[in-house]
Parts: sequence; structure tokens; C-alpha cells
Amino acid sequence: MESAESATHCPYCALQCATVLSGRRAELAVRPAPDFPVNAGGLCQKGWTAPGVLRAPDRLLTPLVRRPDGELAPAGWEEALDLVAGRLREIRGRHGADAVAVFGGGGLTNEKAYALGKFARLALGTSQIDYNGRFCMSSAAAAATAAFGLDRGLPFPVTDLDESDVVLLAGANPAETMPPLLRHLRRADLVVVDPRRTRTAQQAALHLQPAPGTDLALALGLLHLTVTEGLLDKEYVDARTTGFDAAWEQCVAWWPERVEQVTGVPVADQRAAVRMLAGAARAHVLTGRGAEQHSKGADTVAAFINLALALGLPGRAGSGFGTLTGQGNGQGGREMGQKADQLPGYRSLTDPAARAHVARVWGVEAERLPGPGRSAYELLDALGTESGPRALLVFGSNPVVSAPRAAHVASRLSALDLLVVADFVPSETAALADVVLPVAQWAEEEGTMTSLEGRVLRRRAHLRPPPGVRTDLEVLRSLAVRLGQDADRFPARPREVFEELRRATAGGVADYSGISYERLDAGEALHWPCPAGEDGADDGGVDGRGAEAGSGPDTNAEDRAASPDTGAESGADGPDAGAQGTGRRGRRPHPGTPRVFLDRFAHPDGRARFAAVDHRPPAEVPDAAFPLYGTTGRVLAQYQSGAQTRRVPELVAAAPEAVVEIHPDTARRFGLADGQLAEVTSAHGTVRARVRATRDVRADTVFVPFHYPGAARANLFTGDALDPRSRMPEFKVSAVRVTPADGGP
Ligand code: SF4
Repeated sequence: MESAESATHCPYCALQCATVLSGRRAELAVRPAPDFPVNAGGLCQKGWTAPGVLRAPDRLLTPLVRRPDGELAPAGWEEALDLVAGRLREIRGRHGADAVAVFGGGGLTNEKAYALGKFARLALGTSQIDYNGRFCMSSAAAAATAAFGLDRGLPFPVTDLDESDVVLLAGANPAETMPPLLRHLRRADLVVVDPRRTRTAQQAALHLQPAPGTDLALALGLLHLTVTEGLLDKEYVDARTTGFDAAWEQCVAWWPERVEQVTGVPVADQRAAVRMLAGAARAHVLTGRGAEQHSKGADTVAAFINLALALGLPGRAGSGFGTLTGQGNGQGGREMGQKADQLPGYRSLTDPAARAHVARVWGVEAERLPGPGRSAYELLDALGTESGPRALLVFGSNPVVSAPRAAHVASRLSALDLLVVADFVPSETAALADVVLPVAQWAEEEGTMTSLEGRVLRRRAHLRPPPGVRTDLEVLRSLAVRLGQDADRFPARPREVFEELRRATAGGVADYSGISYERLDAGEALHWPCPAGEDGADDGGVDGRGAEAGSGPDTNAEDRAASPDTGAESGADGPDAGAQGTGRRGRRPHPGTPRVFLDRFAHPDGRARFAAVDHRPPAEVPDAAFPLYGTTGRVLAQYQSGAQTRRVPELVAAAPEAVVEIHPDTARRFGLADGQLAEVTSAHGTVRARVRATRDVRADTVFVPFHYPGAARANLFTGDALDPRSRMPEFKVSAVRVTPADGGP
């Protein structure tokens, strides 16, 4: 059976453009859904070519087990799962529960992220779980939580940007990372803060080009000018914020001339930026990874929030502050409990009330829940050490390419007693594994994703997974059962997981309890918080009664098979299944919260907090041995570690290999010619990439995209400096030297 078309969303970034899939696997076609306001009929090249991911020639179709000869060889599911469960029991028995660790991903559906956190804490009993979203969103999350009491990337719909007059983009390059967003920026004058003259910067009314690692000084200087130029919105600051005086004390000495000296941004440009923002009737300040991936990323975002607060933007209709979350489920993935310090609903793992609530939903004593564990890099760094985990399960991540100090991380992975990777292709991390489990992906699975604007979206299966492939939920359930858990506690149907997730998030910061598959399938636009009932009261929709998944006809899937392991259908999530959570007893369901802060911020007193932060240099600054800044980032035709996009022929053709962008004068200085192979070396390692001479990068900086494997891994030169608050690695600044590679051009 098959449906002609399925409405779903792009497999890649957090914009989550709406798409329509049609046809069978071999001729699968995608087109943008015309009526979804976020992409408004647009897709980027990655979205248009997404069906190519499903046709990856090296798709994993059977579990792989490393044999005594060292080779990964095909195995049956029973053998592979029994092996994994047996080794996990053995390692746990010998070294304790924390000897087993879990590493998740910001691209996992909400259901999978939730199940992974529950699996780690209940089935494994380990505190050692974190995920690659730590490398993307943690600085922005830490700063937003401190300032506003709540972290929702964009606390307003993307379409609010349509009417903005001025948008400041600090370290964000949507022209390459999420091009359809530019549809919402057509009206605005853009102020772009970026060491590179990116495609976004090329469209800007004003481009501020600070030295890498100096965004914080620039933000302090912009706040200084806001005050000294008489542009402070005092009425707003008095009415809606606290902490201004302490924040001002930190930036009072950041005179524009000093800021110019530290950042390289001319005084006139600083002044122009502030005047543009202050003079706009509607303005937004948005940050991206460029401002966030630093050892002071949280403080840098806080300084840009300070600027926005001083100008009276957050929580004002038509204006605001936000962050452009990167990974597909970067928002939902950070709310569902796969983070080291977090329980579902954005609850804190150290909050007794939060622990009690989640433990109740899970049917265990709160004491059974482990405490917080190591952050992502610290977890990877500890693998195979005396006091660190001896086994690691990886879902939806490829840290061999995406983690900082990549060679070291690969060596830590190799030191493990057991590495298990669930993926759909043999990623660079899977290549090191003892057991590889082939799992379904994107158009083969049901679930929900939460976009960068906090809107919960339905991912719908269009194809049946290939024979031999299982879903992540099925894998988790199978392992949990083998580890002694009750099968009912780990449902494999996404809808059932979502129903439980609603109960687990009820009353939390990220409250999904009023959201149901039915409401989403009916086309409602639901942004969290969306509590059950009109005003947060339980409407009976989150108690699990009536959660009879799969009762309706399934019009989307080409065909669906019973799970070979559990008998659970992976789909049966058709638009008319079930009837829960949609306002029973005559109550009007909560409409969701597209704009979070219009009336009050989420702190108990309703006020936003200024942060008293000061500038400090990055962990590494250029010196005689390493005279340049090395920075990393993205290109239009690739995504994250490239595990998906490097398998799509059109994207490979568009961006076939890593390049090192270098100013022509700098290239000459170091004896390099355009097109030549170069080595970029830091104290941590060497990256080989082809020289692209361009005046779009500062003369003191080289740029390497991080999507490529092997010797071209940009993260071979990144280090292990972490933000003390967010534990974000400093991807954006390394001290490097550049030399011609052996072998020449
Ligand atoms: Fe849209 Fe992002 Fe997909 Fe491009 S990659 S189509 S911007 S969701």
C-alpha cells in the first residue's frame, strides 16, 4: 500500500521547512509545501535534494559486529542485541552503572530524545548521558535561561521578522545555513557581525568584521554607545528588567576607541549599528554559532541580550531577541532529557520536584534517577580512562567528525571496551564501533520535531524502512527488555512515546502536555509552552487514557511492517487516529504560545535580567608559532558532520571537499597559491585542505568548514577549551599556522 504524497519536514536544519514527498524510494520526489509560513514555498539545495539521502549506496541494512579478526561483519539482530546487552551487563557489573555512557543528537525526534534519556537513566541507571547539541546551542541556552527564565531559540514566530526594520545577526550566516529564512529578512536592513564577509554579510547594510573571539568586547561597546548616545530605553529598562546598573558597570570602560583596538571594528561602524537599531520602529537581535561557540559563548550571548534589553526589544510586539538554533531538532532535543543535567520538559535534574514528577511518570522512586553527568566533550574525553565510562552507545551523532579535538576523541573512542553506534550509514564513528545497528531515518519514521521558533511539527513516514532496518525506538526497547526492563515501559510506537512525553513535560518549562498528534495533524500551529486545558488545567488528555495509537487508517506510509523484534508497528499514526487531548469535556484546548514574553518574562518577578559580563581573550591567541586565527563553520551544500549530505551526489558536486579560506595577502605571506593543498596546524593537530584565496576573510584569519572526514576534518585543529557555564567548546577560535602540504598542489 502506498500514499501518493506525505506532508513532512526537511531532514536537516532547525528551520524545518515543510515538504511534500511523493513516489517510491527509487524515484522519490520532494517539493516545498506552499502554505507553511516558515519556508513559504522555498527550500535550499539541501532540502531539494534530500531524497538522495534515502538512496545512499552504502546504507546499512544489517547489524554489524566486530569479529576476532578485527573486521566488522554482518550479524543478525538477535545476535547483535544479545551481544550488546550482555556486554553492557558485564561492564556495568564490573565497573558500576556510570561505566556505561550514552551520546545522543540534536537531530533525533522528540520521541527518540525522550526515550534515550529515559533509557539511560532507567534501563542503564547511568548519569553519563549528553548529546551533540551541547556543541550547538548550550551557550545561547545558558544565556537565555539566565536572562529570560526560559530558553526558546526564537520566542516569536519567524514571520515576525517580516516586518522588522533592522536585524542584527551576530555570528549567523543564514544565507548559507538556512537560506529560506532570508525571505523573512527582505524588508530589514541587516547588521551582520562576522569575521568573514559571508553571503549574508554581502547582503548587509552594515558589516562589522571583528577579530575572532572578540564579539563580547564588541557587544559591550555597543551597549556602551547605546547609553552614551542617549539611546537607552529607560522606560522599558525600569519596567521590565533588573540588573542594569551592574551590567553598565562592566561596559562603562568599553569606550568605542578601545573596542576598535580590540575588535578591529571602526568606531563609526559601531556607532552606525547602534543608531540603526535604536532608530528602528521594529528591530531584532539574533545570535548564531559564530557568537556562541566560544569559551565565553554564554557571556557573549548575554552581552547581546543586554544590548537588546537596553534598546527595549525583547518581549515587545514586532521586535525581539533570539538565537538561530542549528540542528533539525536543536530546540526539542534540548528539552526532552538527553542532556547531562536535564529531565523532560526542560526540567532540572537537581530539582527535587522535577525529579519526583518525572519519576512518577516513569513509575519509579525519584531516588532511582541518577544525578547530572559529564557534558559532551568532558564525557568523550573521559572515555576509556580509569574513572571514565568503558562503554558508549551513540545515537544520531558522529563525534569523530563533529567533536572538538577530533583525533583525541577518536583515540578515546578506540580505548573503550564497547562502542555501539546506531546509524543508517557507516559514519566515521560507526567505523570504530564494536557493534553497528542499522536504523530508520527521516522519511521512514514518525514523530515530532520542534523548530527554532518552538513550534512542534509532525514528521511523517512516507516509506517503509528497508528490510533489516529498525527504528531507534525499537532498538531502545529491545535493549531495555534485555536489560531487565518491562517492555511496556519502553514503547516503540512514536505516538505512545509522545503521549508519555506529554505527561512528563506537563508543568515544566517546555510544557507539551496540550499538544497531540491529532492537533498537529489537523494543521494547528502549536508553539510550546502548550499546557493541557485552557489555562493549564488538566483536560484529561495527558493521562494516557485514550492513547490508543494506531486506531486510524494510515494514509501516509508506503507500506509498514511489524517490528521483527517487538511486533510494534512503527507507524499507524494517521491523521484520524486517537481522540485524546483535543479539548474533551468541552474545554477549549490551549492555543500554544507563539510569542512568549509579551506580558512578562519567565522569572518569578516577570522581569528580564541584565548580566554583568566582561570581555576576556579566547583560550588561544596567535603567537609566533601559530600566527593566525583558525575558525570553523558551515557551507551551503553540506550539513553538520556530512554523514547525510556527503552521500547526496548534487551536494557532493556543489561542495566536494574541504577548503581553507585565506586572504590572498596572507596566502602569499605563507607561500600558498589558490587551489594548492595546505596544512592548517594548531597545537592539537593538522588539517589538510585546498586553499581558496578570498578577500572575504580577514587577513589574520583562516576558515575551514567542518563537514568533511579524514585528514580534512576541521576539528583536528580545534582544542578543548570549554565555556565554564555552558560547557560549549571553543570551535570558533584556534591559534594556527598554515603551510603548503607535502606533495604540493
Ligand atoms: Fe530548509 Fe534547512 Fe532544509 Fe534547507 S536545510 S530546506 S533551510 S530545513
